[in-house]
Amino acid sequence: MQMLRERRNGTGGKGGSQMVQMCFGSRRNVSIPEKRVESLIDAARTDFEHLVLVNDNTPTLPLRFQAQIFDVFRQHLQTPVDEHLCEKDDPYEWIMFSLKGMIMLGTAFFERNAVNMQCFINCWPDIFKWLQALFVVREACDREGPYEKGRYTQLIGEAYNICLHIFPKALEEEEVIGLAIRVCIGDRFSNDEDHFILQPFLACMVQYEDITDVVSRSAEKMLEACDLTAEDLVDKIVARLKRTSTQTTPMDLQKLMQLANTLGNILYLHPSLTEACQRSSVGSCLVAILKVLMDKRNYSAHYKEAALSVLATICGCSSFRAPKFAHGIVEEGILILLPRAASLGSDPTCKTMAIGILDQLLSCLTYSADVVDICRDELRKIYSSNSQFVSMLDSSPKDFQVTWGSFIALLLENAVLRCLFKKSYAPENGTCANRDCRRLMARAKFMKCAGCAFTLYCSPLCQKAGWGSHRMRCKNLDGEHLNILRFRNQRLPRRMTTLHIQRYWTTIVRLSQEKGILLKHLAVRVSYDKFPFSMQVFDWRGALNEATKIPHLALAAETLHHSGGSQRNLILVLVHMQETDYPCIVFVEDKWTRGFRIPQATKDLERTTFVDDHGKPLVCEEVDALRVGVCLAKKYAVDMGKTVWDNAVLHRATEKVLEEFEQELLVDSNSVE
Ligand SMILES: [Zn+2]
Ligand SMILES: [Zn+2]
Repeated sequence: MQMLRERRNGTGGKGGSQMVQMCFGSRRNVSIPEKRVESLIDAARTDFEHLVLVNDNTPTLPLRFQAQIFDVFRQHLQTPVDEHLCEKDDPYEWIMFSLKGMIMLGTAFFERNAVNMQCFINCWPDIFKWLQALFVVREACDREGPYEKGRYTQLIGEAYNICLHIFPKALEEEEVIGLAIRVCIGDRFSNDEDHFILQPFLACMVQYEDITDVVSRSAEKMLEACDLTAEDLVDKIVARLKRTSTQTTPMDLQKLMQLANTLGNILYLHPSLTEACQRSSVGSCLVAILKVLMDKRNYSAHYKEAALSVLATICGCSSFRAPKFAHGIVEEGILILLPRAASLGSDPTCKTMAIGILDQLLSCLTYSADVVDICRDELRKIYSSNSQFVSMLDSSPKDFQVTWGSFIALLLENAVLRCLFKKSYAPENGTCANRDCRRLMARAKFMKCAGCAFTLYCSPLCQKAGWGSHRMRCKNLDGEHLNILRFRNQRLPRRMTTLHIQRYWTTIVRLSQEKGILLKHLAVRVSYDKFPFSMQVFDWRGALNEATKIPHLALAAETLHHSGGSQRNLILVLVHMQETDYPCIVFVEDKWTRGFRIPQATKDLERTTFVDDHGKPLVCEEVDALRVGVCLAKKYAVDMGKTVWDNAVLHRATEKVLEEFEQELLVDSNSVE
């Protein structure tokens, strides 16, 4: 009644005053005087129908009314949460219309000037209070309310997005992040539909360059409150991704991208979530989805974008270089996808990410025999059965091809190395830590100190004799450094490093002379975290001086300290992998590099593997069985008409190498692996 009266008055108008177009439900575009508009807006403070009217007209009303409109919404949002609970139908419709109106005013209004912005900031606590309340009631309202389905859910996401632009600081507050994580976890409602909202979490994450303690803590709390483990949450998101990847509408693809981004962010939230994302099952699932997206026949820009976000998530997860994850993605077929993925978009992001993934796999090759084996197996299949692969690789971006070349080179080297190790090539030696003993023999025959699991003794007697000088440093180790010393997967990298150091020995000696380091003080840091790998020489006495900061290095250096430089072929080596320095003592012998010649015809197939501190390639002068084995494998592959990854080829190459080496092995037959 009241509204009709006003409409009539409005259309009548007063002479001279400015007219404004307003839309009244079905009657479109009625001209009414400015004064009437003001009173219509004001009526929305107490009358619901007017609130709807204002809401309908918010996008089109002249800017000068917006401050007044905002004030109406603000007033409704100030209502205490429990006040509307008992009304019938949709008890929150006042609030819903106010929030929706606020979102319609949009960033343009709030960003227009400092006053408007301050209005939003002052109002935010009320907005947030209602977001929390709406989240709790949204199941029933989204399904049974009189308006469109899912609008409560929608609204919570949109409010966060506005906040991101106007008042980003709010997104750093624990409570606000908490709700964002909570809605991202979502709920399985009674009809077994999976409900979740990702925008709030993604909006919060835009806010963070680095994940802070606040975010970590919120994530932990929310998981606990929902009685979920980190694995549960990651599995939940992966399952949603899987489900969405079978849908085809642009909206589904949008959702898929959000899910991929969410997983890519969750990865960094908390150590337990990082760990959960590193599982092989997560890797294989992501690659399976990438495959689906890349194999679409009608390849639209949407698919490309979705594939890109999945690729980014794979790249993020693999940046932790966990062998488990690497195994998962390789097994599911990432290697065959990468050349295509590198050329996916016109912008260089795809290429960068494809190269990134390959680089990270390359790192994994150095410390996981498992990854070496699965990569080799995969390449054998690709090269022997997929004729298009080579042409795909040839048409991929040039820098991708360069990384691919390095990856292949290292993989082949490590595949040969694995074969050689299986046949007892270059068994590892160790030395007794008791300074009066210093016995040298096969590493496997030593006892390890029960405390640090690092220091070796040849007998209980030697351990007793050596304990006095070892005790202090061994007891000084804290949990973190003990874990480094006890790290299980050190064997392959340690043996490989030993070979690499032997192979580059002439160069290492030259580098240490340039730095004025005496051979008896020489230590080498070999970094396998980034390709090309690097070698740096340093004086291990520095580690003793900084013992409090790096107790595990000091403990390793101590072994050399006590030897008094009498055994120059013992070198302290820091193997840098997965962003950690793992110390080890290696015994350098030239017999493993003696007497080999590289077949002339295959010499040009070699590549640079190591650089120095300044990124300058290191010259490799020594030839060892490994280098010969690689060259022979390439030669035999051609001779036998097979791929170099074939078992028969690798077997024949290593047999041939060991034949040449037989004499040395006989001499060394007492040192068993
Ligand atoms: Zn110890
Ligand atoms: Zn001993």
